[in-house]
Amino acid sequence: MMSERDLRATLAADRGHVWHPYTPMDEWRAHHAPLVVTSARGSWLELADGRRLLDGNGQWWVSTLGHNHPRLVAALKAQAEQLCHVSLAGITHPAAARFAEELASVAPKGLTEVFFSDDGSTAVEAAVKMVVQYQRQIGHPERSVFLALGNAFHGETVGATSLGGVEVFRRPFAPVLFEVVHLAPPADLAALPQALRALEAAVGQQGPRLAGAVVEPLLQGAAGMQTYPAAYLNALRDACTRTGALLVADEVFTGYGRLGTMWGCDRANVVPDLLCTAKGFTAGVLPMAATLATAEVLAAFSGGRARAFLYGHSYGGNPLGAAVGREVLKIYRDEGVLAGVAVREERLRAGFEALARDPLAGRLLEATRVLGSVGAADLRAGGRRATTVRPVETEADLGEGYVAEVGWRVYEEALERGAYLRPLGNVVYLSPALNIPLPELDQLLEILRESVRAVAGEMA
Ligand SMILES: *Cc1c(COP(=O)(O)O)cnc(C)c1O
Repeated sequence: MMSERDLRATLAADRGHVWHPYTPMDEWRAHHAPLVVTSARGSWLELADGRRLLDGNGQWWVSTLGHNHPRLVAALKAQAEQLCHVSLAGITHPAAARFAEELASVAPKGLTEVFFSDDGSTAVEAAVKMVVQYQRQIGHPERSVFLALGNAFHGETVGATSLGGVEVFRRPFAPVLFEVVHLAPPADLAALPQALRALEAAVGQQGPRLAGAVVEPLLQGAAGMQTYPAAYLNALRDACTRTGALLVADEVFTGYGRLGTMWGCDRANVVPDLLCTAKGFTAGVLPMAATLATAEVLAAFSGGRARAFLYGHSYGGNPLGAAVGREVLKIYRDEGVLAGVAVREERLRAGFEALARDPLAGRLLEATRVLGSVGAADLRAGGRRATTVRPVETEADLGEGYVAEVGWRVYEEALERGAYLRPLGNVVYLSPALNIPLPELDQLLEILRESVRAVAGEMA
């Protein structure tokens, strides 16, 4: 536990100086009451006041092996004693070189080339630039338009924001975003034929100008944990191949077993031309990312110095991150992490079905879905007003209505019951560590159900 004095100093410093992400700062400073986390272990966050919270989302989905996995902490310490940082400029080091080799061995077939960067956004930014320069250098400078999905989220750089389809994130920056055709993915098989027709129409219209398509495979996280059928991803792969566009899989969230297979693409038997990975890449220990490419993509950057990829980040291939990343892959093998996701998927499915059947909770539910280690429920308006300072992450968060707040009422009820269940607008979801112990997963599901019931009980 933290001393009263340290706690007061932390809160004062935060209120005075920290500009928080997605946060209306005037409201935040006026109603300042953040959770103060002092340590974390496994599925648990420990707060300054001694409370413990079960972590329902692995801190924006990065903590895929639980907090402070002892083997990751040990790998980090061992590497720190040896070498904290060198750039990859004319230098290599064992951690990055061996990590790249190991990554290539678990990547979809043919993705043998590994470009390291810092986070999901930069992994996507690098992919965008690779695509544009690739097209230019194979003789298609006219190919400059991208395809992306409606409600997509690919990160925060200007390139990644251009690809994004979540309107609240685009709006403030609209004047500087580049041209992207957004296609609404089908929510289910019934909607597939119409979505395929729209895809064909877009390809028919834009085909010769298309540089690439960038998609989150099968599950769109920030969209509110929305899923779409594998057949649509297959159709996108075919469309790209036919038109000469590159397919970029943004696996920042779906990769590393989130959907039960190593990559989301594996679940649809799709092999992309480029693949972006971050988040679970270092299991929430350090910011690190990579963009993987085929040898064919890399080949377009040969044949003269002017054709090189002029791109790099100061920390790209950082030894600490690479050492942790290697240990993550070893843990996946030693602890059978992917096989464990299948077990958790079944538990989640049973839990969300029970939620949907619950007569009281059911009053608040629109729909539920489960894929891999993610379970989500769409809520309708209900309950009292939330007192938490809501961030702005969905269109609903801009509104004043209860729809915007129902997720945050569930969040507040879950905090009372000992769980951290940050919602996305009116979508409440679980996206815990992939290896969360089953009793703790059951506890999360129970707290979710009790919290939804509590809010449903407030409805008039
Ligand atoms: C989180 C996320 C990003 C951005 O990653 P950062 O590490 O936050 O920059 C990109 N794409 C997807 C699909 C994500 O979920």
